[in-house]
Amino acid sequence: MPTKTELKHRTVREVRKNSEGASAKMKALVKFAPGDGNVDVLEVDEPICGPNQVKVEVAYCGLCGTDIHVLHDKFRNFPPVILGHEFAGTVVEVGRNVSGVRTGEKVACLGATAVTCGRCPYCISGYFIFCANRRGMGHGVNGGFARYVVMRPDQLYRVPPNLSLEEAALSEPFAAAIQAVTELTEVRSGDTVVVSGPGSMGLLCLKLLVAAGVKTIVAGAADDDRRLEAALQFGAAAVVNVAERSLVDAAGEYTDGLGFDVAFECAGHEDSVRGCLQSLRPMGLYTQVGICGREIQFPIDQVFFKQLKLTGSVCYTAETWDRMMKIFAQGRVRLDDMVSAKLPISEWRKGFDLCMEKKALKVLMYPI
Ligand SMILES: [Zn+2]
Ligand SMILES: [Zn+2]
Repeated sequence: MPTKTELKHRTVREVRKNSEGASAKMKALVKFAPGDGNVDVLEVDEPICGPNQVKVEVAYCGLCGTDIHVLHDKFRNFPPVILGHEFAGTVVEVGRNVSGVRTGEKVACLGATAVTCGRCPYCISGYFIFCANRRGMGHGVNGGFARYVVMRPDQLYRVPPNLSLEEAALSEPFAAAIQAVTELTEVRSGDTVVVSGPGSMGLLCLKLLVAAGVKTIVAGAADDDRRLEAALQFGAAAVVNVAERSLVDAAGEYTDGLGFDVAFECAGHEDSVRGCLQSLRPMGLYTQVGICGREIQFPIDQVFFKQLKLTGSVCYTAETWDRMMKIFAQGRVRLDDMVSAKLPISEWRKGFDLCMEKKALKVLMYPI
């Protein structure tokens, strides 16, 4: 069994081998071996921009639940690999076969399509997320917790001038919220909607609903106080701390006893799933946005007796990203108030702790 230090050295050698004689170095947050932990800031070779690629200098990369799952080996990963999949930056080099991209352009990066087959029915229909051969940046291939990344030009989205690179770094989770709220769930004006779970996905869903003028109630647990406060600032009609009153009682209060029209389950928690199903009206809509990460007790008869419509929403398509750029350009949804900390990647432990302790909305990290 190699020691951790040996594995780290091996990682540096392997990353070096991949980049054919490059000598410039950069610091990166690397998952250097399989298993729980095995993450650290290491010095690796800078990636080389191939003829069909674009090199981007990362400005900010958001820390996400997925990164924490990779740290604890609860999400599929392929070490050695640089973590981080929510990033934006500036184009610094363009491969000789690439047209339509210029150095100096600010871009948001769609890392999830780094490796796909391009030929299966899902790739062809745009739902690349279901491609059996997919590997995303930050767990499947090198991601954004580093100074530089190289990508295909079709993974890049030019950022509108009114958008900061901090906000652009929220593109990846925002796109997932856009798919859930505007593409896969038929929310109608006049509806009363519950978002259960005030983490960053829940708050991004809230922002879209508020921008569309939909009355939205946000529910959270006992330790969600700060995030429920943020929900009120972001335009929630009301917040519910389920440790103090049940979601069913709250639904009665806010809908004249009818029940919520739509529920977005963003907590990935059994109690939240049950609360959403119980507080929906007959023929209501339920969308699963959170990941439970384990099997749960599920009151399926609620679905039968109330004739509910259930769907899940995972990831997004390239079309969602096109729509997102239009939403950004219209400037109706602001995201800068989602960022509660900006840290250098050398302080990654602090960032991970802030997320795990629910002390932050979104933590961004920047290269060193
Ligand atoms: Zn993410
Ligand atoms: Zn495919």
